[in-house]
Amino acid sequence: MTDNQDLGITESKEYNTGEWYAEVVQKAGLANYAPEGMSGFIVTRPRGYALWEAVQSYLDEKFKATEVQNAYFPLFIPESYLEREKDIVEGFDPEVAWVTHGGHNELEERLAVRPTSESIIAPYMSQWVRSHRDLPLRVNQWASVVRWEATDTKPFFRTKEFLWQEGHTAHADKEDAWEETMLRLDQYESAYEDLLAIPVLRGQKPDHDKFPGADTTTTVEALMPDGKSVQGATSHHLGTSFAEAFDITYSDEDEEDRNAHTTSWGFSWRSIGALIMTHSDDQGLVLPPTVAPTQVVVVPIWQEENQEKVLDYAGSVADDLENAGIRVELDDRDERNPGFKFNEHELNGVPVRLEIGPNEVDDEEVTVVHRPDGESTVEARAEIAETVESHFDEVYAKLYAAAEENVEENVRDAFARSEILGTIGQHGGYVRAPWCGEEACETEIKDQISAEIVMVPFPDDEEKQLDLDDHDECAICGESSEETAYFAKSY
Ligand code: AMP
Repeated sequence: MTDNQDLGITESKEYNTGEWYAEVVQKAGLANYAPEGMSGFIVTRPRGYALWEAVQSYLDEKFKATEVQNAYFPLFIPESYLEREKDIVEGFDPEVAWVTHGGHNELEERLAVRPTSESIIAPYMSQWVRSHRDLPLRVNQWASVVRWEATDTKPFFRTKEFLWQEGHTAHADKEDAWEETMLRLDQYESAYEDLLAIPVLRGQKPDHDKFPGADTTTTVEALMPDGKSVQGATSHHLGTSFAEAFDITYSDEDEEDRNAHTTSWGFSWRSIGALIMTHSDDQGLVLPPTVAPTQVVVVPIWQEENQEKVLDYAGSVADDLENAGIRVELDDRDERNPGFKFNEHELNGVPVRLEIGPNEVDDEEVTVVHRPDGESTVEARAEIAETVESHFDEVYAKLYAAAEENVEENVRDAFARSEILGTIGQHGGYVRAPWCGEEACETEIKDQISAEIVMVPFPDDEEKQLDLDDHDECAICGESSEETAYFAKSY
């Protein structure tokens, strides 16, 4: 039982999305707000942290299978290190938290609380890389970073301290670094699509919105049910800017000194925000079984005269599931009635419920109920673990299909400024428009409806492009159009 749980969700997802989200996060026991004076920070409760652990173990396994090793670097970065790559200083300056004192003594040099760790990792890569035989070099750290965000914060989506992983790699040439950038983007896409049941669009950020110091920033974007896009994760091709600033050089096969090409890539707990926002409803949290801390709850329903046989039967079903490695909870609390239990497990997002009463016992069956839509099926008791696993697949498929339908129905084309403004204003979602590449054109849209270019498809991704032969003028300024831009409001 968690605090206030009896109250249930009172806000509407459709009409009051922000309040509804805050209520689900708190009432489903995922997070609390930090103490007063620390707005933008959250306390992550065990059920919320379990979701992060599920993401973490999924990605960690993928990284390790592709030659990444974990390491850990200090929380602080000396100011002089941060200043060595000028774009990083400029890009992060407004968001950096500084340590000026150790105890009562003022430090000789201020220390930045890491907003991202290129500036403390690159100098060590410089020491570790000597020859082409040391490349590629790949390290990842699971850590938290601090960015004093000026825009509104929201649990998981945008917090001042957030958990993430940051991967950092060095390569002999540009092609190898680019391949790495795309491999990590593929893994991020897979985490969203195969673990969190959220389809994403991949592409790159416009030049003016790249990670500071990057050649190219690639992104996976997810569309939320309220029509806003979320930058799900980013993978950066950093070119040689960090190698130059931090002297990451290697001698090639001809003993020539060369700059390495580096990448960095980050996936944060924003993914948990996207997960909650995408699938949950007015009854509370909805989770895919892949990440749910409790995948299935067994609820026995008994009267005094059949208590023993119902509880024995339910217990043996739960044992079978547990032995098959399924995360199962047997809810045999005496002091709560079945209706209360159903509501509580719905609020907490348990994907599948098994109801077992005297009829199920007599017929050697179980009733299986899906959390997302309440669909109920009667199944045989025999081979219950396989049956439950197949219901997990069905629940996953339902969640993915609903999210996919939302994206498919919400990509619209526009060929004039008024059309971009009108379409996003009316429907939200993505608007594809031909774009000249100038930031000023995006600014015009941003100023009017706070929508921005969230993504430009990769040049070889024809399916996502407009036919620019037919649409050769920027929708905003009328100059020649070079790219297809996806405009959206975003989190
Ligand atoms: P970056 O290093 O800026 O590319 O950030 C990597 C990823 O972290 C972004 O793509 C976001 O998904 C996520 N992220 C950035 N800022 C925040 C924040 N304040 N809170 C949570 N996640 C964030």
